[in-house]
Amino acid sequence: MSAKKVIIIGAGLAGLSAGCYSRMNGYDTCIYEHHSEPGGVAATWRRGEYLIDGGIHFMMGYKNGTDLFNIYRQLGVADPANFVPAKSYGSFIDIEQGRQFDIPLNISELALDMKMLSPADAPLIDDLATAVGAFSCKDLTTYGQINPPELTSGLDRLTTIWKMRGLFKYMSGKYTRSMEEYTSGMQNRWLADCLNNLFTPQSPVWFVIMLLAIAGDGQISYLSKGCKDFALQIEKRYKDLNGEIIYSATVEQILVNNDCAIGVRLTDGTEDFADYIISAGDIHNTVFHLLDGKYIGKKLQNKFDTYELSPPYFAASFGVKHTFENENVFNTIVLKQPLRIGKREIHQIFVRIFNYSNHFAPEGKSVIQAEFETDWDYWDNLWQTGKEKYTAEKERLASEILTHLEMLYFGLSQLVEVTDIATPCTLNRYTLNYKGAPEGWRINLQNFKEETRRTLEGLSNLYLAGHWVSGGVPGVILSGRQAVQLICAKEKKPFFTRTT
Ligand SMILES: Cc1cc2nc3c(=O)[nH]c(=O)nc-3n(C[C@H](O)[C@H](O)[C@H](O)COP(=O)(O)OP(=O)(O)OC[C@H]3O[C@@H](n4cnc5c(N)ncnc54)[C@H](O)[C@@H]3O)c2cc1C
Repeated sequence: MSAKKVIIIGAGLAGLSAGCYSRMNGYDTCIYEHHSEPGGVAATWRRGEYLIDGGIHFMMGYKNGTDLFNIYRQLGVADPANFVPAKSYGSFIDIEQGRQFDIPLNISELALDMKMLSPADAPLIDDLATAVGAFSCKDLTTYGQINPPELTSGLDRLTTIWKMRGLFKYMSGKYTRSMEEYTSGMQNRWLADCLNNLFTPQSPVWFVIMLLAIAGDGQISYLSKGCKDFALQIEKRYKDLNGEIIYSATVEQILVNNDCAIGVRLTDGTEDFADYIISAGDIHNTVFHLLDGKYIGKKLQNKFDTYELSPPYFAASFGVKHTFENENVFNTIVLKQPLRIGKREIHQIFVRIFNYSNHFAPEGKSVIQAEFETDWDYWDNLWQTGKEKYTAEKERLASEILTHLEMLYFGLSQLVEVTDIATPCTLNRYTLNYKGAPEGWRINLQNFKEETRRTLEGLSNLYLAGHWVSGGVPGVILSGRQAVQLICAKEKKPFFTRTT
């Protein structure tokens, strides 16, 4: 009997993961990818002698012994040379006030530093540190998502609840509020702002507690060769497992017969048929265009109606003749005057310095990148208006950003050899993500609590994977794996994994 076939839409990390696990379980596979290379939003590109990294900031679970590390081994990305351990969480820098707060990984050190800065805020700081302590040394790298929600039994849930019993206190009450709300009573507003920016001011407190615990456990690292290399290694694993992948191939329709997904049609008219389809691309496009809006279901419709998308971002990267040797990799910088974009004012920028590996620039040089949230409509309108205005706005912003960075790094403008600018339109063009949303829906409490199902109402043999069903690198690679777990479960077959 010939093997059954799985078609996968998208070669981002989720699609590549789905491809690997499909092959490990004996399915014939073909991945169709819109772009000419793998990785999706995990993208790097060359500008002269510089490598610009537009994706993943940090990786979790890169050490042997965690659930996630096992997954990395299965996907062929566990080589220690891939990871550079983080030495610090980052810095919070206020140009106007001339102040800088360096955030150590160790929570006791962080609490001590914060209390020295603001003794009056000791109760909240101690509260935060105690919570982080409770989460420490637990394997949180897969957020208990080794199995898809559809295959998680009542007993499995109870077991998880039992294992996590000491932590529930910190996943309810005030810890379910946003960081902004949690720190609203702090005396030192500057420190409050710093805490709010440990992730985003809107993220739930318990999520930030979890991040600090993972960081404190030494489980945070940077990708030494950039994020596309990470994707290329999974692609290699997939090809070594004899998987097929076709680039510059955009799926325009999912073919359905009697409410069962049976294949795909590409924009060039090619059709391909399979027993199962895994859509690991943009969910809005999948539901509203590839399936003509027929299988949306109430829950998913409600998400589109009420959830905020992850905010698109503007990024300006500068290749410079300077190494920033003693600087932290991540820096939140409060600007002296806001940047203005349309009706929006930007008061803070996130600055990433690629000084942790020689992969991004030749010796004596490096890349510095500034990012901030922006509006899709603004950039989309400019893009529609014509290249001239769009380019002029990009260049205006890059030049203003440099002026701000000059206040920290005197003479920087003279050292710039290469400037690269990415807008939400850039991300949308290369990955088709809806309105340039870089990470699906915005992380908030509601979408943490309400799992997105991996199937669509009324449609069989189609499974969803990717950052619209589960977030971050761990979430997306697990979602690809989970789609295959669901296919195996449907066929009443055991699910296999392997590392060779
Ligand atoms: C700037 C940035 C920083 C991040 N930092 C971190 C971090 O520090 N830690 C962390 O864990 N995560 C981080 N993330 C998130 C993480 O990188 C993403 O969640 C993950 O890479 C998403 O992978 P994906 O496969 O779900 O989606 P995508 O990367 O969007 O991949 C989807 C793929 O499907 C293709 N596709 C879509 N539609 C079609 C179609 N119709 N036909 C063919 N192909 C199609 C697209 O071209 C794309 O390649 C970050 C993301 C960004 C953007």
